[in-house]
Amino acid sequence: SSIASFAEAGADLELAGITKRFPGFTAIEELDLSIPAGSFFALLGPSGCGKTTTLRLVAGLEEPTSGRILIGGADVTSTKPFQRPVNTVFQSYALFPHMTILENVAFGLRRRKIADAVGKAHEALKLVELDHVAARRPAQLSGGQQQRVALARAIVNRPALLLLDEPLGALDLKLRRQMQLELKTIQTEVGLTFLHVTHDQEEAMTMADTVAVMNKGRIEQMGAPEELYELPRTAFVANFLGQSNLFTGDVVASTADHITVDVAGVPIVVPRKRAQRHAGEVAIGVRPEKVSLLTEAPTPEAGRNVLGPGRVTDVSFSGVSTQYLVEVPGVGELIVFAQNMVFGPVVAVGAEVWLSWNAEHGFGLDDDPG
Ligand code: ATP
Repeated sequence: SSIASFAEAGADLELAGITKRFPGFTAIEELDLSIPAGSFFALLGPSGCGKTTTLRLVAGLEEPTSGRILIGGADVTSTKPFQRPVNTVFQSYALFPHMTILENVAFGLRRRKIADAVGKAHEALKLVELDHVAARRPAQLSGGQQQRVALARAIVNRPALLLLDEPLGALDLKLRRQMQLELKTIQTEVGLTFLHVTHDQEEAMTMADTVAVMNKGRIEQMGAPEELYELPRTAFVANFLGQSNLFTGDVVASTADHITVDVAGVPIVVPRKRAQRHAGEVAIGVRPEKVSLLTEAPTPEAGRNVLGPGRVTDVSFSGVSTQYLVEVPGVGELIVFAQNMVFGPVVAVGAEVWLSWNAEHGFGLDDDPG
């Protein structure tokens, strides 16, 4: 019997040892992933890292070279796409142009002879706040509205698992931000499991409760957005989710609470529990917004790291904050984000500056340095 029922709740998804090889190219390698029912899970990574291939494997549009896929505990590895309790919303949301919005949403239900297709379609349209345009045709809606119709059309089927492949990619920035919040609200309301694929780190962090960062067919790190941002474990994650200042050096002291790393002759302290490695040569980092820019050498203070003097090489104003690039001899170029509290930049290009941050805000990577 087929498991293509109309789930009332989301199902969990498990990928166990999935490898996908195309002729001459391995797109996914030994991927293990466990997504709890009812969660909003984002697969985040650069173009070509294997995100879409992973979604297509879950949808049944591709067959894995090896490994198993389980939805709600049932092995669907060899199940036909239409028999999987899955729906996909793509970036190109092809609605039927000659049908009304209501007919578009009710189409799938009617074809499967589900009772009260019209009533259910109205319900789905209410959810995306478009019931008032039910009688219109797609061409009479904006891009964002059409995307919401595509979402209603997928949700009306009550798939246990909804796959979203860059569904907001075609929208302009403002609409995209608005839709991100709406999509999150809808997911919470319907309680289905959402697997969202995107290359947009802000989108993934805004919407998902768990983010998996993917790189070259593997998952580099997985966790809550705050956790990934605060404690990236690899340089790839540290730079793909926001920006980071990264340094390498030898651990020269180690206590129960902290490690001290020699960075070009300067001792930099990192909390032990925020560092992956505690001995030898290590890579450490700090986020640009955690660093303060000072125009005078600060008095040494326990618990604060200081680098400098350096020279400001670039200043760029972006509204809420200003980004400074600072060249520190022997260390390299650092980036600092300063919140704009006063009119105009505080420091100009060419100024001599020191950089300082609370030692508790640093992190240590698990990468092999260099
Ligand atoms: P994007 O964000 O650009 O869509 P992605 O992370 O979704 O990227 P995939 O589409 O999953 O990436 O592709 C992963 C890799 O597998 C790419 O290098 C791609 O060229 C390759 N690939 C995908 N489909 C095939 C195929 N049918 N034959 C050969 N190689 C493929």
